[in-house]
Amino acid sequence: MHRRRDLGGIVFIDLRDRAGIVQVAVGPTAPEEARRVAGGLTSESVVEVDGQVAARPANMKNPDLATGEVEVQATKLAVVAPAATPAIPVARGKGEELPAEELRLKHRHLDLRRPEMQSNFILRHRLLQRARRTLSELEFLEIETPVLTKPTPEGARDYLVPSRVHPGEFYALPQSPQIYKQLLMVAGFDRYFQLARCFRDEDLRNDRQPEFTQIDLEASFVGQEDVLGYVEAVLVSLWDEAGHKIARPFPRITWRDAMERYGTDKPDLRFGFPIADWTAQVKPLAVPFFQSALKDGARVRGLAVKGGGVLSRKDVDQLAEAAKQLGGAGLAWVKRQGEQIAGSVGKHFTAEALGALGVGDGDAALMTVGPDRVTSPVLDRVRQEVIRRLGASPTAAHAFCWVVDFPLFEPDPETGKPVFAHHPFTSPHPDDIARLDTDPFSCRALHYDAVYNGNELGSGSIRITDAAIQRRVFGHLGMSPEDAETRFGFLLSGLQAGAPPHGGFAIGFDRVTMLLAGAGSLRDVIAFPKTTTARALFEGAPAPASPADLAALHIEVKR
Ligand code: ASP
Repeated sequence: MHRRRDLGGIVFIDLRDRAGIVQVAVGPTAPEEARRVAGGLTSESVVEVDGQVAARPANMKNPDLATGEVEVQATKLAVVAPAATPAIPVARGKGEELPAEELRLKHRHLDLRRPEMQSNFILRHRLLQRARRTLSELEFLEIETPVLTKPTPEGARDYLVPSRVHPGEFYALPQSPQIYKQLLMVAGFDRYFQLARCFRDEDLRNDRQPEFTQIDLEASFVGQEDVLGYVEAVLVSLWDEAGHKIARPFPRITWRDAMERYGTDKPDLRFGFPIADWTAQVKPLAVPFFQSALKDGARVRGLAVKGGGVLSRKDVDQLAEAAKQLGGAGLAWVKRQGEQIAGSVGKHFTAEALGALGVGDGDAALMTVGPDRVTSPVLDRVRQEVIRRLGASPTAAHAFCWVVDFPLFEPDPETGKPVFAHHPFTSPHPDDIARLDTDPFSCRALHYDAVYNGNELGSGSIRITDAAIQRRVFGHLGMSPEDAETRFGFLLSGLQAGAPPHGGFAIGFDRVTMLLAGAGSLRDVIAFPKTTTARALFEGAPAPASPADLAALHIEVKR
């Protein structure tokens, strides 16, 4: 019983199940017992109704409700299970705010009853089935891989599970099925997929969950083009399932170009405002803000904001503040209105100099200076804020792209040493293998990401299938040969057993569902999610283990 309105002579009940809501009318002609039950019915009780479906009187029709033309005129009404007053309301009036998320997570069984949540999970089910169907039609086999396993590095910490029968030894929960799916290729299954649960112990950000679902796939005798084709087929079918027609192939952009033009490896291509390198034009102007920073490969980069003249002083100050928080030199700006040129560095610019940067009448220029690793995130942020504050209209509703040619290594933020940008099973670009030892940072990887409206949907790569190269790469990560053997011996012996060329991908299924459901958070498409501090509020996990359990697991807890 979703909601009840008692008008004295007649009681209207909104009856809810997963298909929606229908109105039940318990009027003066209904049996005495039905009227008595209707009078005392509490919200969220489970009821049984017999009755007649009838057209509503013309003035009672509700065009906002799918069943708004009809009602059920009750001939019997019984309570199957009464509900105590719900801890959080399920029915909500128009514009009424949701309860605090902590309460929603704590009383999840009630929160999940809300029609919005029901429709999110109905969509999730349909997307899962569609992914299965699409991949099965492409002759991928669904094969399950273990959850109690050995560490699979994907850049996070492992969740460890102590072994009771082998004191001091631990299983790891998989960060992904990566090594297993590669071994399935070695085993000759040709094409594999799995709706895989993955576990990553990270300091959680708002859009991450410690356990999540991937549409994980791998195929043999393929190159990058084949894998991109398979993944496009899956994504197009998922968007189709949600009612959107998407054109293929998706555009491509190299990682280098994405960083240069958008400052990020997940560019939102629905909008313009690309980043430009203005070093050559700005250097001769001897602007103090830039001059002292222009050394050691630093560049002046900025955005020409068409129509940016309408950005207020407050807007610009807030943008500059956001830039500062990201650790840059801050933001310099110029606005041009007719002959007037204003802004923090306005007095150094002429209309001509601005024209050379593509900044015309009514436009603004926002710029910063420094090494790319600092200016890229700043300008990415500034670009997104500009788009938001100007209310810029997107050129398309759905902008997919492939980001390709990622670097194989990135510098460790603390030591500067090369660490793997993706996982260590990713093949170096064949043209760059020769520089693996001499100039690792210049090596590209056969690694690709799918990006949609500024969101990363997933990653994949062509794998290393030569055990010798795989050993070299482990060496780069600082592993001794013995270490590599202990940790990844089962993969190395697989690669020596005749490994077909193979590659794959993993689509972040929760994120896809969130985007297609128009949900505001991953937690709205995961039935029992964790909070940002990795707690399950509903069931209350993690929780201390009993001394007896700890003893059986040979574990002593130090506080
Ligand atoms: N194992 C990778 C991941 O989970 C995906 C892949 O390379 O196929 O991100």
